[in-house]
Amino acid sequence: MPSSFSHAVAAVAFGRAYTKRALPPRFWICTVACALIPDLDILGSRFGIGLDSMLGHRGITHSFFFALLLSGLVVLFAFRQPVSGISQRALFVYFFAVTASHPILDALVDGDWGVAFFAPLTSTRYFLPWRPIHSSPVGMGFFSATGATVIMNEVVWVWLPSLVVSLAPWLGKQWLTRRQGSRFSHESDLIPESDI
Ligand SMILES: [Zn+2]
Repeated sequence: MPSSFSHAVAAVAFGRAYTKRALPPRFWICTVACALIPDLDILGSRFGIGLDSMLGHRGITHSFFFALLLSGLVVLFAFRQPVSGISQRALFVYFFAVTASHPILDALVDGDWGVAFFAPLTSTRYFLPWRPIHSSPVGMGFFSATGATVIMNEVVWVWLPSLVVSLAPWLGKQWLTRRQGSRFSHESDLIPESDI
C-alpha cells in the first residue's frame, strides 16, 4: 500500500481541485479521514483475521460499497446542513470519490495482495494493469532505508500527480485565457485598416 501520508496528500489535492470555496475545517478533516479509514482493516490481523478473509486487509473496507457507506455516514453526521452552497448530493459524490481513491491507489502498488473492489458481492482481489507504486513498509520499517526509497517513489507517482490535480482548475483557466487572448489578437490582425 502507499503510505498514509500519500493517501492524505492525494485526498487533499482532490479536495483542492474540487472546490476553491472557503470550507469549514470539518470538510478537510473528513477528506483526510475518508482517505485513511479503509486501512483500519489492518487491525483485523490482531484478532486473527487472515488476508484471505473479506474482513482482512484490502477486503471490504477497500470496496466501492464501503466508499458509498462511509460517504453516506459522513454527509449524514458531519454535513446535515449544506456548506458554502455545496449540496449534500455533491458532497456525497465527493466523499465517495475521496474514499474510493484509497483502494484505487492501493491497486497501483507492486504488492502481492490485491483489492476487493466489489466486496461483498465477491471477495476476488484486483490490481490495476500498471503498478508503479512500491509497497510501503509498515510501522517503524517506514523510517528505514527502504522507507526512504518508498517515499521517493511516492513523491514521483503520488505527490507530483496530486500537485498537478490540485492545480488543474488553475492551469485550465490559464490555458483558456491564453487561447482566447491569442484568438482575439489574431482576429484584430484580420480587420482591414480602413475599419480601425
Ligand atoms: Zn489500503
